[in-house]
Amino acid sequence: MASVTLEHVYKRFGDLVAVKDQSLEIKDKEFVVLVGPSGCGKSTTLRMIAGLEEISEGDIKIGDNIVNDVAPKDRDIAMVFQNYALYPHMNVYDNMAFGLKLRKFPKDEIERRVQEAADILGIEQLLERKPKQLSGGQRQRVALGRAIVREPQVFLMDEPLSNLDAKLRVQMRTELSKLHDELQTTMIYVTHDQTEAMTMGDRIVVLKDGVIQQVDDPLSLYNHPNNMFVGGFIGSPA
Ligand code: ADP
Ligand code: MG
Repeated sequence: MASVTLEHVYKRFGDLVAVKDQSLEIKDKEFVVLVGPSGCGKSTTLRMIAGLEEISEGDIKIGDNIVNDVAPKDRDIAMVFQNYALYPHMNVYDNMAFGLKLRKFPKDEIERRVQEAADILGIEQLLERKPKQLSGGQRQRVALGRAIVREPQVFLMDEPLSNLDAKLRVQMRTELSKLHDELQTTMIYVTHDQTEAMTMGDRIVVLKDGVIQQVDDPLSLYNHPNNMFVGGFIGSPA
């Protein structure tokens, strides 16, 4: 079953074509990584899937439904950004509960979801703390927790690890892969880091100038790049 489908999607900003004729079928529970150099259209693609950016042309489907005109909050997705801002005056519990409160979830359901997410992320001991009392890695977990409590069918992540130091970044890669196994959801993950893409993705989508260059599993991509750009990009150090 297809989880997210792009059909001939374009995004124009004035004269600039940021996303050009992208077609892609992401399977249910797949971990797909969008990778490419800065400015190639990764964030724009993700933001269109999230509904944060209007589509200029084409269709995006979640499941069988075309969601072009569906508001972000009504799509069965949650997004984690690079610059996740936690609410500084709220403790960890309230940061994670906030979105559910807005959506008028019952209190016991909120409690159940926050506890469960905290458990999965190993932050049960931190629920009373304020963001400034947390390390970078702990803050990133809380940001993930805010998405997990939504229990979405699809997770979108835009360079969620790029603000962490190198050691923590490697550790979080493994944790995110585990999280994907545990949650059994579709993940669409954006990075400009080839190593991150190659170690995390079931399939990798390589972008250049808004155009999909190749969609393949890591090994095929490595062994059989479609063109010089893909070969050079995948083969070069991050
Ligand atoms: P990436 O995430 O791969 O670095 P983006 O999707 O952010 O790339 O940007 C793709 C292209 O679209 C870039 O040239 C960028 O400058 C441009 N762009 C992105 N958002 C806007 C916007 N709101 N207005 C004008 N141009 C934009
Ligand atoms: Mg980006």
